[in-house]
Amino acid sequence: MSLSVKELLSIGERRLVDAGIADATLDSRLLYCFMRNIDRSRLILMYQEIVEDRLCDEYFRLVDDRASGRPLQYITGIQEFMGLEFDVNENVLIPRQDTETMVEDVISVIKDGMLRGDKLENVRRREWDILDLCTGSGAIGISLAKLLTGVKTSVTCSDVSKAALEVARKNAEKLGVHKNIKFAEGDMFAPFVGGFKRKKFDMIVSNPPYIESGVIPTLQTEVKDHEPMSALDGGADGLDFYRIISRDAGNCLRKNGILFLEIGCDQGNAVKEILAKAGGYTDVRCLKDLAGRDRIIYAMLGETGK
Ligand code: GLN
Repeated sequence: MSLSVKELLSIGERRLVDAGIADATLDSRLLYCFMRNIDRSRLILMYQEIVEDRLCDEYFRLVDDRASGRPLQYITGIQEFMGLEFDVNENVLIPRQDTETMVEDVISVIKDGMLRGDKLENVRRREWDILDLCTGSGAIGISLAKLLTGVKTSVTCSDVSKAALEVARKNAEKLGVHKNIKFAEGDMFAPFVGGFKRKKFDMIVSNPPYIESGVIPTLQTEVKDHEPMSALDGGADGLDFYRIISRDAGNCLRKNGILFLEIGCDQGNAVKEILAKAGGYTDVRCLKDLAGRDRIIYAMLGETGK
C-alpha cells in the first residue's frame, strides 16, 4: 500500500466521518496511537513515515470496529477518570466526566468539610467508611481510595454484576489500592443488611442506573448497543434506584451519614421529593455539573442514622 502515517490517518478519519462518528478526527488518531502504543505528541513526529501493510490492515480493522459504533474506550480498553487510568470493557459503564464532579465534591466534604464554598455542619469525622454502591469499573470508589490522602478511609465497592466487580478489582490492583478496598457482590444493599450483616457506613456514594427505560432506544449507538443496559436502565421513570436508596440507605448509614448520588439532569426535584418522603434527611442539596445542569444530590441523614 505504501501509505504514510498522515495518509493512513486521513483515510481512517474519512471512514469514521462517513459512518457518522462525532469525533472522527480525534478517534482516527487515538486508534493509531493505541495500535502503536505511543502518545499523541509522538504521533505528530511520525506523519511522514511509511506504514507497513500489515499495520495498515490492523489499523483499518480498528477503524471499522469504531465505525460500527463501538465506543473507542471499549476498543482501547481504557478511560481516564480523575487523572487515573481505568480499564473498561463491555461489562462496565465508561466513566464520565460528570461523575468526576461528584468525586471532587466528596473529596472536598471529607477533607475540608466544605461543599461548593459552604461550610457544612456535623460532617467532621476522624475516619470515613465509604460505600460506592453500583461501582461498575470502580471509578468512584477507587479514585476516592487513591486521592483521599492523609484521611483514614476505608472503601467498599459493591455491584450486582460479578463481571463488573472483576473489572473493579483489576483496577484497584492496577492503581495500587487493592489492599484498602473491599468488594461486595449483591443487589443494592443486600450484602450489608439482613441476618448478621449489619454494616454501617459514614458515606454512601452512587452513580446508579437512571435513564428512563423508554428513552434508552433513542440514545446513541455507542451507549444503547454497547454499554451494559443494567448500568443504564432506571425503570419506567428512571427513578427506581433512588427509591431503593432513599428507603434502605438509613439501615446502612451511621448518624449524620452522607449520601452522594449522581442523577439525570432533569431528576433533581424528583429525587429531592423521594428523599423528603423517605424522611430523616436533614440537609438535601442539588448540585450542578460543569455544564451547569443538575447532576448531583447531596443529603445528610441526621439523627435517624444508626
Ligand atoms: N450518564 C450516563 C449517560 O448519560 C448514565 C449513567 C447512569 O445511568 N448512571 O449515558
